[in-house]
Amino acid sequence: MMKLRLTVDYLLSRQLEEEGVHKLKDYISRESKEILTKGVPKDKLSELPKIIELNISKDVITVEIESGTFARSHAVALRLKNFLSMHLGKEFKIGIKKVTGITYTLNLDLEKIPKDPITIPFVDKISIQDNKAILTLKDLDEEFLTKNYVDRIINLFYDKVEAQFWGGKGEHWEIISKSKDIEPLTNKDPTLELLAKGWLKQGPSQGQWFYHAPVAALLRTMEKIAVQEILNPLGFTEVIAPKMVPFEIWEKTGHLSGSEPEIYYVSPPISRDASVWEEVIDLYKITKKAYVDKIRERMRNPIGGMTYAQCPPMYWAFEGKTIDDSEFPLKMYDKSGPSYRWEAGGRQGIERVNEFWRIEPLFIGYPDQLIEIKEKMMERYAYVFDKIFEIEWRTAWVTPFYMAQSGQIGIEKETERIKGTVDYESWIPSRGSREESEWLEFQNLSIVGDKYTKAFSIKSSKNKELWSGCSGIGLQRWTVSFLAQKGVDPENWPKEFKKYLGEFPKHIKFV
Ligand code: ATP
Ligand code: ZN
Ligand code: MG
Repeated sequence: MMKLRLTVDYLLSRQLEEEGVHKLKDYISRESKEILTKGVPKDKLSELPKIIELNISKDVITVEIESGTFARSHAVALRLKNFLSMHLGKEFKIGIKKVTGITYTLNLDLEKIPKDPITIPFVDKISIQDNKAILTLKDLDEEFLTKNYVDRIINLFYDKVEAQFWGGKGEHWEIISKSKDIEPLTNKDPTLELLAKGWLKQGPSQGQWFYHAPVAALLRTMEKIAVQEILNPLGFTEVIAPKMVPFEIWEKTGHLSGSEPEIYYVSPPISRDASVWEEVIDLYKITKKAYVDKIRERMRNPIGGMTYAQCPPMYWAFEGKTIDDSEFPLKMYDKSGPSYRWEAGGRQGIERVNEFWRIEPLFIGYPDQLIEIKEKMMERYAYVFDKIFEIEWRTAWVTPFYMAQSGQIGIEKETERIKGTVDYESWIPSRGSREESEWLEFQNLSIVGDKYTKAFSIKSSKNKELWSGCSGIGLQRWTVSFLAQKGVDPENWPKEFKKYLGEFPKHIKFV
């Protein structure tokens, strides 16, 4: 059983006289029962919160509260604040100026004993004694006590203990379907082939490529196929979402619970005034160099980052809206700009880059509508990969992205297999045999449930349950999946593909 012990100070607007002290103590002992019992189930009375100490001296009331799981001490402290305010105000014309949690000791049961030390913000000390963890917090303000921080700290602590045991186990993966075997026309690495032809140039920055005309034509062909074979027939319409995403949006989507190490952060200048920048400008004029330190001094704090996935701003666009029921399912897509992720050492060829192009379809509707859209999308995808690309591919259930970001790996319950993420993977023969090599995830499709429609308060006019889903079509990954099996000679590409390709651009001859 968890034990939460909080010492809280209520600072009064002025001192309470001795007679008042007596009266107040009396009120508390006679009337505080409701405060202490509310929310505690009948069969858990052993976990009733208790006031173990009460001290009134001058202008401070100090209370020590002990609780179990239900009606937690911090919640009781706030109920007590209202109770005290009422009596103090009515009878003595005294207000409560400030509430401070002096110390908060969380005594938590452990099923597994953590192997390594754990640190958590706001927590001064964590000590492990037998099968208990004791977390000590100090000097907590009222906001901290009001806003569920303590509950989140407890959850985070247990998550971190759990993570020490599954660490490295990676994500859940379970095959759903597989296309028929297709004999590849090559076993060469597409990026190396494209480089050899001079169709690609690496850089100028990490994880970026310059795509010469032939590769640009290929990427655009992929885009055309996605739009004409999948999105248009299914009634998706194009939107153009901003590509610089403020933190406020990611706070809502939860991308800030794990994507941080991959985000490209954006900081605007502190001023548009040329005089502020004069030194930097002059330094460049003299040395022809960018003085990065001087530039950094003139930058504001980051306001957000570059697009990580395209759906967050699409949800934002509908934030707080009640949408007429006749509109569902809403189907839209964005293909208007690149996404950025700091892949660091994970970069590989053109398939795993820091700057890449995706098309992201997003759909919002009733659960049964979403199930239907997902089925239809999967049908259209299958058509493209079987009949236009003629490649070998498969699908798998994986840890949903919205869980992976927070380090969770479990998959939704078997019966709830509607929600979750399907990864699409292609065989890359240059990596090895179809049985043994690692396949390339080239796109995914997720049904998220009501997580984002709730987070952004998107409602139907009939107030029905709304779900959402999205799919990330990676254009570089489509291209690599295709070239890895079909090679880089357009002569050998399937007829249906060539229809979309049109005239393939000739490449500039370098000497
Ligand atoms: P991975 O496990 O390969 O890192 P992810 O789980 O991070 O992929 P998602 O966030 O699910 O990828 O993004 C969806 C799609 O975006 C991927 O299927 C892929 O097509 C594309 N994508 C993601 N990261 C990259 C990248 N670094 N380079 C190119 N395409 C990418
Ligand atoms: Zn998405
Ligand atoms: Mg990734």
